[in-house]
Amino acid sequence: ARTFFVGGNFKMNGSKESIKSIVEGLNKADLADNVEVVISPPALYLSWAVDHNKKAPLVQVAAQNAFDKLSGAFTGEISVQQIKDVGATWVILGHSERRTIIKESDEFVASKVKFALDNDVKVILCIGETLEERKSGVTLDVCSRQLDAVSKIVSDWSNIVVAYEPVWAIGTGLAATPDDAQETHKGIRDHLVKTIGQEQASQVRILYGGSVTGKNSSEFKDKVDVDGFLVGGASLKPEFINIINSRL
Ligand code: 13P
Repeated sequence: ARTFFVGGNFKMNGSKESIKSIVEGLNKADLADNVEVVISPPALYLSWAVDHNKKAPLVQVAAQNAFDKLSGAFTGEISVQQIKDVGATWVILGHSERRTIIKESDEFVASKVKFALDNDVKVILCIGETLEERKSGVTLDVCSRQLDAVSKIVSDWSNIVVAYEPVWAIGTGLAATPDDAQETHKGIRDHLVKTIGQEQASQVRILYGGSVTGKNSSEFKDKVDVDGFLVGGASLKPEFINIINSRL
């Protein structure tokens, strides 16, 4: 069985004060013990979040990006070596905000995924279609293309979690319906069966992301291919605990 997984992507939000209070909230909370929780503060606060986290290994810390070189003259980039040095264990790669706003290509994302894995940092790989793409019926083609760039150069998927985040659902309050999410997750898994094999595809966790809240998270409970969530806005609020506990 796939362990339920909840990630909190703080994006470019927070301060020492607010991030400390989120971590302390998690420290105090009664969290389900059959869930893996990963919080992702901005890079400047990775160390701060790790140091305040009393719930390791149940709660882990992720960076929101990393480069595909260990060190050197790459001004402004974040090294997986440094991520590990401060005690974080995961990195989010391929988030739609980086694909669309920062213009990261499928190939660049894939190269960073491979580099992180090769250096023992686990990866939350985000994929998903825009509203235009959904309207023209190419949702699975887009997801497949984004996945294929990775499967072309990465054969071991045991340290990858896939986050399906339709761009139209991110930050809009318009979450995909549980049925729509299940349908796409199933399509993603079927595609992975073809590219990385049945055994690995059946083990990969596929998270849903996009306007997940403390309220709607339990509606996905019986969706067999929804293995957790990647939460943006609601991960900054107390309702994040309800999302973590939504499978109880
Ligand atoms: P929201 O939960 O704010 O819609 O963001 C989702 C997301 O992008 C998580 O990575």
